[in-house]
Amino acid sequence: MFEPVLLKNIDMPDGHLLSAYEAGGGYQALAKALREHTPDELINLVKESNLRGRGGAGFPTGMKWSFVPKQTGKPKYLCCNADEGEPGTFKDRIIMERDPHQLIEGLAISAYAIGAKTAYVYIRGEYVTAIRRLEQAIAEAHERGYLGGNILGSDFEFDVHIHCGAGAYICGEETAMLDSLEGKRAQPRLKPPFPAVEGLYASPTVINNVETLACVPHIVMRGAKWFRDIGPDRSPGPKLYCLSGQVRKPGLYELPMGIPLRELVEDHAGGALPGRKIKAVIPGGVSAPVIPESGLEVGMDFDSLAAAGSMLGSAGVIVIDDSTCMVQVATRIVEFFHHESCGKCTPCREGLDWAVKVLRRVEAGQGEPGDLEQLDALCKGIFGNTFCALGDGAAMGLRAALKHFHDEFVAHIEERRCPFH
Ligand code: SF4
Repeated sequence: MFEPVLLKNIDMPDGHLLSAYEAGGGYQALAKALREHTPDELINLVKESNLRGRGGAGFPTGMKWSFVPKQTGKPKYLCCNADEGEPGTFKDRIIMERDPHQLIEGLAISAYAIGAKTAYVYIRGEYVTAIRRLEQAIAEAHERGYLGGNILGSDFEFDVHIHCGAGAYICGEETAMLDSLEGKRAQPRLKPPFPAVEGLYASPTVINNVETLACVPHIVMRGAKWFRDIGPDRSPGPKLYCLSGQVRKPGLYELPMGIPLRELVEDHAGGALPGRKIKAVIPGGVSAPVIPESGLEVGMDFDSLAAAGSMLGSAGVIVIDDSTCMVQVATRIVEFFHHESCGKCTPCREGLDWAVKVLRRVEAGQGEPGDLEQLDALCKGIFGNTFCALGDGAAMGLRAALKHFHDEFVAHIEERRCPFH
């Protein structure tokens, strides 16, 4: 039986208050980090744990921290990516609403490790409750001396500021988020230079996701080995999975990384709705290519899903049953990416516009011979040729739908209607 760690406080009444967090051992990890570890030791501890970023890319967190130059005349910044715009994803919202001090403690320890005095939490503007609770938690932490100057009697000084996003999906891309924080139009930046060297205000910056930062206090308290012993060697640790769609028990689940997708959907989330069969699952938010029912034995970790032609992404698991038209699913997803494209590069901006037009006519039963080849050619033109991962995600998702559900696309064109409606 897996004991939740990240979600252990979320069902507590008033679990978002400092008193509840402290009663469960909260801020002891910060005290331990300041008392027993140098910043370099903390970076090595997180490296040893093999914590990989929970925002989608899965980059090793300790390694990311170690890229920050030690000697620099510039201030260092820590940015928390709390924009969480990936459809099907709501794990970071739950942490911030129900247990915001877990994030603040993770921020404080991480800032100490990289030598930052300031952190920005870039939070999705629609997350009104999370924003209010985080503001309240920051005020409480200040009052109790967990934020501000001389934290817990040390010479560590640190503060957290909240920045609310305005609804652009692209702000989840880390360099677009930095531009937005600086007050500019959010568009991805050319890399290198990478943010660790030249990020916010051209200063060394680490950008971590909410869930990634929430793991840090537990690694400090329980050790790197404890973390590494959960799940597969290359992608260890406790993991939050967001279950939604046509499934009996949608919700947020904390389970080991690497759990088989079938076990997650059928055993934990109760499987398909009454009278229905699962047709497919999107395992990591709509950027992740769809997996047909026959592929559900795959492990929910970065490497297993990549080997299966998909990705863990944000672990937004969307279940699709046999009543659903996959042409409709693919069209809605590509429409989403088209709408959210920042327009900076041509393959994404023009390619997705074209793909939406073709998909809409296929969905409406007005597809023409050659449309599927056209869609395939558009995917090839977009994938690998865009400035950021948004275009790649859209192309990969569309190609997977065309590959696994080719017959449904053909039926729309041949029957000149949607067979499902
Ligand atoms: Fe913008 Fe799309 Fe190009 Fe990314 S891939 S930079 S979202 S136009």
